[in-house]
Amino acid sequence: MPELPEVETISRGIKTHLENQTISNLKILNPKLRYLIPKNIKQDCLKSKILNVRRKAKYILIELDNQNIIVIHLGMTGRLLITTKNTQKKNLSTEEIFTHRLKHLNKHDHVIFQLENGTSLTYNDVRKFGMIDLIDKSQMESYKFFKNLGLEPLDKAFSFKAFEEIISKRNKSIKSTIMDANLIVGVGNIYANEALFKSRIHPERLASDLSKIEIKKLRKEIIKVLNAAIEAGGSTLKDYANEKGESGYFQFNFKVYGKNGQPCSKCKTTIERIKQNGRSSFFCPECQVLLT
Ligand SMILES: [Zn+2]
Repeated sequence: MPELPEVETISRGIKTHLENQTISNLKILNPKLRYLIPKNIKQDCLKSKILNVRRKAKYILIELDNQNIIVIHLGMTGRLLITTKNTQKKNLSTEEIFTHRLKHLNKHDHVIFQLENGTSLTYNDVRKFGMIDLIDKSQMESYKFFKNLGLEPLDKAFSFKAFEEIISKRNKSIKSTIMDANLIVGVGNIYANEALFKSRIHPERLASDLSKIEIKKLRKEIIKVLNAAIEAGGSTLKDYANEKGESGYFQFNFKVYGKNGQPCSKCKTTIERIKQNGRSSFFCPECQVLLT
C-alpha cells in the first residue's frame, strides 16, 4: 500500500505535468472502485483548469479553478500514469490523441483525464480499493475522510508542543500512538519502526512514559525518515511520468524493518520481531530498552 512518502512523490511527480493545464475530456471506464466514482465528475471537471496538485494525508488533491477538488486515494494498488504527447502525435488534435489513447488501454485502466496540451492522466488499479471523488473547496474541513485526520508530520503544525500534547496523554504503546491516523497521519509501519529505532525507543513503551528529550528526538526522527523516503522516491519519479510505470515502492535503506534475525547496525545485537496490534514491530533489544 502506498504510504505517505510514496503518495508525496507521486503527487509531486504528476504536479509538473498537470498544473495550469485544462481538462478537455474525461473517460470513466469503470466507476466501481472502493466507492462509486460520482456521476457528475465529468461535467464538473470539463473545461476547468488545474490550479494545484498536492497531498493531504495519503490523498492526492487536484484543485480546479471552478472550486472543485478531485480527491484520489490509491488504495492498495492504485497508480497514476502520465502519458505525454509524443513526437509521432504532434500533428494530431487533442481529441484525436484522446481517441488514440482510448484505443490503447492497459488492463485495469479505470479513468482517463485528457488535458488540452495532449497529456493524459490515467488511474489504473488492479485491486480497485482506491477512490476518486469530487468535492467543493468549501467541504474540505467537513469532508468525511478529512475531518478526523490528525497532524501532518511534515507541516509546521507538527511542532514539539503539538506532538508532546498528543504523546503525553496516551496510555497506549508509543508505536500504536504514532501510527494512529486520528493523531498523526501517514506514519506507516515501516516509518514507525525506523523512527523508533533511531530514537532508541522500544515500540512497546507507553507513550505517556516518554521523557521530553525522547519526544523531541522521536519527532525529529519521524520527520527525517519521511523526508529521506521522499528523497529516495525522487529517483522513481520517472515511473509516474511514463505510461508503463511499474512500481510505486522504492528502495529504502531500512535499519530494522524486516531485519529480524540480523545484527543491529549499531551494536550487532540480533534484531527482534514482535506483533503489536496485528502489525510486525522490529527493534534492537539493546538499543531500544523496554524498561528505563
Ligand atoms: Zn542495537
